[in-house]
Order: sequence, then C-alpha cells, then structure tokens
Amino acid sequence: MGTDTVNFVNALKEVLSEEQVTENQTVRELHGRDESYHEECLPDLVVFPETTKQVSEVVKLANNYKIPVVPFGLGSSLEGHVIPYENGITIDFSRMNHILEVRESDFLVRVQPGVTRTQLNKGLKKYGLFFSVDPGADATLGGMAATNASGTTSVKYGVMRDQVRDLEVVLADGEIIHTGNLAAKSSSGYHLNGLFVGSEGTLGCFTELTLKVYGIPEHIMAARASFPTLNNAVEAVVSILQAGVPIARVELVDETSMKQVNDFSDTSYKESPTLFLEFHGNEAGLKQDVAFTREIVKEHHCLDIEFETDTAARNRLWEARHNLAYAYIHGHPGKKMMVTDVCLPISELSDAISHAREAVDALGLNGGILGHVGDGNYHVLLMIDMGNPDEVARAEKFNEQIVLYALKRGGTCTGEHGVGVGKQKYQQKEHGQALQVMEKIKQALDPDNLFNPNKIIKTKERV
Ligand SMILES: Cc1cc2nc3c(=O)[nH]c(=O)nc-3n(C[C@H](O)[C@H](O)[C@H](O)COP(=O)(O)OP(=O)(O)OC[C@H]3O[C@@H](n4cnc5c(N)ncnc54)[C@H](O)[C@@H]3O)c2cc1C
Repeated sequence: MGTDTVNFVNALKEVLSEEQVTENQTVRELHGRDESYHEECLPDLVVFPETTKQVSEVVKLANNYKIPVVPFGLGSSLEGHVIPYENGITIDFSRMNHILEVRESDFLVRVQPGVTRTQLNKGLKKYGLFFSVDPGADATLGGMAATNASGTTSVKYGVMRDQVRDLEVVLADGEIIHTGNLAAKSSSGYHLNGLFVGSEGTLGCFTELTLKVYGIPEHIMAARASFPTLNNAVEAVVSILQAGVPIARVELVDETSMKQVNDFSDTSYKESPTLFLEFHGNEAGLKQDVAFTREIVKEHHCLDIEFETDTAARNRLWEARHNLAYAYIHGHPGKKMMVTDVCLPISELSDAISHAREAVDALGLNGGILGHVGDGNYHVLLMIDMGNPDEVARAEKFNEQIVLYALKRGGTCTGEHGVGVGKQKYQQKEHGQALQVMEKIKQALDPDNLFNPNKIIKTKERV
C-alpha cells in the first residue's frame, strides 16, 4: 500500500469509526463479485457509512486522494456493475437500511438506500400499501434505482424509474442534492430523477429515495396457463394486452425452466411452456378479466389454465417463479450464470423468442427462456462452464446474436439488468451520437472519473 493510500485510510478513520472501515480479505472478496459470470476483482477497502453526512465525507476524501468509489447495495447485479476493476473503495450501504417515513395519504415512502424490497413490503403491509418493483433477488432500493430495475409487475405499475419521486444524491465533490420533489407531476427544470435512475453508481451515491407505493388490491388472482409451444404462449400475451385486459403480471417460463422450477421448488407443475399470470382489482372486474383471458388463451391453443385464489398457493406460485435463477444455479454446481436481457417492441417478441430458441440449439448451448413478456423483455438463462473457453465463446456469440437482432428491430441490449461491463460493447451501436451526450454528462458530473469508473461508458480497455 502506498503512502497516499495509508494517509487516505487514516483520514477515513477520522470520519468513520474504526469498525466502519475494513481491509479484511473476506469482506473484500464479498465485494469483488456479483451474481454473474464476470471476472472478480477486489476493492482495496470497504466502508459501511451510516449517514448521508458520512457518505459525503467519504466521497470528499476519495475525491481529494483520487481514489475510485464503487457504491454497493446487495451485489445481485448481473453485468459486473459492482466489480471494482480499478480497485479503490467500495461503499456498502447495508447499514443505511431504515424506512424513514411513510406518507400514507400521498402514497409515498422515504427510505435509505440499503432497505431491501421485501423489507419495505413488510414495513408497508400494516398501512395496506405495497411497493411494486420485484426483481428476482431481494435487492436494495438504492441498487434497484441505480439499475432501473423492473420485475414481474412492471407491465401494470411500471419500472423503477416510474416510482422515483426524489433522490438525495452525494455528488463526486461531496455536495448533496435532491433530484425531485413530492409532487405527482412537475415541469420544473431538467428531469434529474430520470438521469440518476439507471446511472449504475457512475454519477453519484443515492443516500435517500422517495418512492411511490400503492394500495394493496382488494382482490388478487393468480393463474398458470400452459401451451403446446412457446409461440402460442407469447402470442396469447400479445392478444391479452391488445384486448386491454389490465393484467398485473404475465411471465413466460419455457419447458426446460418449468422442469427446473419443479426440481427446485418441489412443485408438480406441467412441464410445457407456461404463462404465470396475476390479476388485481375488485371482485366484479376481476371476474370479467378472468373470463376474457380464458377465452383469449383458448384461441391460442392453451392446454390448461389453473387459477389460484388462496394466498398460500399464490405465494407458492410466485416464489417458484422468483426462485428460478437460483433453481438453475442450484441445478448446475460449478457453473456460472449468463443471463441475456434484450427487450423489444411487443409485436416483435414472438419472432425474437423463436430466433433465440433456434440460436441456442444451433450453438449447442443449454439454456432456458423466461421473461417479463408483457414488457417485451425476455431472458435466456445459460449455465456455463467458465473453464471451457469454447463454451464461453459460444455463449458470448449467442448473447451478441440476440442483442443485434433486438437492436435491428428497435429494441435494447438490456431491458432491466443494466450495462455494467457486459453490455458496454453495444452502447455505441444502440445510442449512436447520443452516447457522446452521455459521455459529456459523465465528464461534467465526475470530471476525475472516480465514480464506478469504466462502467456504462468505456474510458479505457480493461486489462
Ligand atoms: C436471481 C436474480 C434475479 C434477478 N432478477 C431481476 C429482475 O427480475 N429484474 C431486474 O431488474 N434485475 C434482476 N436481477 C438483477 C439485480 O437484482 C438488480 O440489478 C438489482 O437492481 C441490483 O440491486 P442490488 O441492491 O443488488 O445492487 P448492486 O448489485 O449492489 O449494485 C447495482 C448497481 O447499483 C449501484 N448502486 C448500488 N447502490 C447504490 C447507491 N446507494 N447509490 C448509487 N448507486 C448504487 C452499484 O454501483 C451498481 O452499479 C436479478 C438478479 C439475480 C441474482
């Protein structure tokens, strides 16, 4: 460790207590990886601030000593976002995990960034409220805002960006700003909420978030509908949406993934392409939606549709869906997960999924298809042996093929996981000249390139 780093550590220990700063190898290892196949790399230090002021002090010091800073929520991201390839300091937000205020009548909640989505929902239940965004992992709200996460309910309630009313952000010089307000709408100034949401820790650290919440629906009904082919299932979704059925969740799980679900979750669901659906509303409205959906899926050769009205069965169904990635990990010991994440206009989805299925088979890969198909977003989940360069190359080739397919049809390389390092190579192709605008924003807000350097925007080749 150089003199500068020693001085930096000493200075840190003046603004944080001794146990809030660590160079412990195990802790560094835990902060040197995410849940994906991307190569690990350790931070020099990990700090655990407890207040906004402490975050600001830490960032000011990092700025003085020109030390890279990587914000860290739970580390569940999938494109190498939190891996500190330039080392430096990781700011772990797990101690800033308080629900600060519930404004019941405004349907708003103010939280610290380390609160997780299930923690928030537990806290909201007594108010008859819930928070809608539900990625498969029990991620932190700071991490979810930083990746513009979405989940199974985004088809009805929207993605993370739609929920954020205000962020408290510590900028690269340690200044603290607010990006929004509590009003339901505003035409005042540039849309900083929109800019900071999805910035993946490259523009600032979120230290508080004000988020939209919703009343728990009077009635909820879930269903499983199985189909002879993937295309039948996807086309049924397009018809349901075109018919204007206000579906709250619609998730596609292919045959291979249904097998994985049954093995892991001890369920005995039919092992054919399946839609997991959910309807929210009042009793009368729900009856109509369900009847209409039954008719539509029948037209698309649905093999059978089963409804779950009781809470336990419904929870079991969604738990099985949420655990799917873990089911794959569990079922393939020693392998790493590569999850593709393209999103297309809904009219292109059925062909895109057929193309993906053919490409997986042509490349001799083993993968399951699943997705938030109501949003046009699907994933191919590949379990790969990182010790087999040929398999890694085939998986990368596949990822590239489906990204290029999506971009050609007006889609995006990432619907919800974000860019990190994995999707960097597609940024120029996807954004063209707009990428230079993004580079200027980064340069203006972080001139020394200290916040999560070399992520989203490539500043140099990684060695
Ligand atoms: C099994 C599984 C299923 C998943 N399913 C989904 C899914 O359905 N939908 C989806 O969108 N994603 C999904 N993901 C990906 C992941 O859960 C999300 O990207 C999530 O939003 C990451 O949150 P996190 O708290 O783990 O953040 P981290 O992984 O810790 O960080 C993610 C990014 O946010 C930045 N960051 C973290 N905290 C802050 C902060 N306070 N201020 C500024 N920047 C910050 C980090 O620097 C990093 O760039 C899944 C992941 C797994 C493992």
